[in-house]
Amino acid sequence: MDFSFSEEQELFRSSLREGLSKHLTPRVKELDSKGEIPRETIREMARMGILGMTISEEYGGMGADMITTTIAAEEVGRADITLATAVYFLLEAGWGYIFDRYGKPSAKEQVLPRVTSGEYFLGIASTEPGGGSDVAGEKTLAIRKGDKYVINGEKMYISGVAEAAKYGGGFLLVAKSAPELAHKGMSMIYTPVRDVPGVTTSLIRNMGREGISTGVIVFKDAELPADYLIGEENKGFYYAMEGFNHARVLVSAACIGAAQRVLELGIEYIKNREVFGQKLSKFQGVQFQLAEHYAKLEAARALVYKAAWVVDQHYKLNKLSLSEVIKSVSAVKWLAPVFAFDAIKEVATWFGAYGYSKDGPVEASVRGAFSYLMGAEGALNVMKVLLAKELLGKEHA
Ligand SMILES: Cc1cc2nc3c(=O)[nH]c(=O)nc-3n(C[C@H](O)[C@H](O)[C@H](O)COP(=O)(O)OP(=O)(O)OC[C@H]3O[C@@H](n4cnc5c(N)ncnc54)[C@H](O)[C@@H]3O)c2cc1C
Repeated sequence: MDFSFSEEQELFRSSLREGLSKHLTPRVKELDSKGEIPRETIREMARMGILGMTISEEYGGMGADMITTTIAAEEVGRADITLATAVYFLLEAGWGYIFDRYGKPSAKEQVLPRVTSGEYFLGIASTEPGGGSDVAGEKTLAIRKGDKYVINGEKMYISGVAEAAKYGGGFLLVAKSAPELAHKGMSMIYTPVRDVPGVTTSLIRNMGREGISTGVIVFKDAELPADYLIGEENKGFYYAMEGFNHARVLVSAACIGAAQRVLELGIEYIKNREVFGQKLSKFQGVQFQLAEHYAKLEAARALVYKAAWVVDQHYKLNKLSLSEVIKSVSAVKWLAPVFAFDAIKEVATWFGAYGYSKDGPVEASVRGAFSYLMGAEGALNVMKVLLAKELLGKEHA
């Protein structure tokens, strides 16, 4: 057993860290207050090769495996601790992989090179006003009529709606194509949201992750070309689960990256801040908190890379079972955001009032990390439900 990264992976990490520290970190306050990642930063990320990095080289991606993509997610989380840029990054990596793997060549040619170049945004539209955890219970319809799908319904809490409406791109829509078949009657279809008759968007205000929008997409007899169907009709539920299995590992990595950076900022602060005549770092109460969060983040980080490895073993090498993937991914998507949020929240208290101030270095991270406890990429309880089902077997769960 070897816990080290290859020389190539280390080189990738260090050059990415350098690039992101130049082009992303200095703009974090700006993206959080203006509500948008600067386009120049997006273009720089494209130049670094990390936008849609799982997409194959013929469409401008790197065809990256999950370990490499997870390294990038951790670094993007470190570089922008609000986690907004990580969302932009990981949605394109997770769902770009699905589009590339199952999409029709004509649709891929139209969309994917524009994702990897930084022009288009690509995300996922699954959640509805009636709920997000129960994917099979969703109501949006996609009914085939000749060479088109007619879409009716509403998607809500969708990340990147404003970006796709403004700059182009769209979402992998999960909808019912044969409603009587429940989850076996769902299809996945690429939907742009700009200039599509019958498609309207609006925005939702969030408490954090301000640099990326969240919104609603309403479909009223909207027509999408059948060429935008991803893979086979009525298999959309399975593509959605495959995408979530990738995106959830990346979410976890980004949370850990942000928490590690926040812990480093906290260490610098407590070494300098004096209370009751000595540095905060001298108090054992604070030292214990530091040691505990470090240990928990190390444990979660090990699980993150284990899950990335399991995902590659199953989907790329056909070596481990889907059950192993579900166990690893659900465990880490529960544990990593919880450990990361706990660490970020506690470190924020070391800063006292400065930790609550928008001028301080960490408050935006508290707001951003909280999104992963609320549901983004799957609610915490749902991770436990999935894990328990695998452990007990379907007949006992
Ligand atoms: C910032 C943000 C961005 C998002 N971006 C996207 C996006 O880009 N695309 C997209 O499709 N969705 C997106 N979502 C939605 C996200 O996927 C959903 O929030 C998530 O799936 C949960 O769905 P819900 O919010 O409807 O909660 P519900 O499904 O209504 O669940 C409510 C609560 O019940 C719990 N619960 C659910 N089922 C069970 C059960 N069986 N047992 C016990 N407890 C249970 C959940 O843990 C949760 O706490 C985003 C969410 C947020 C917060």
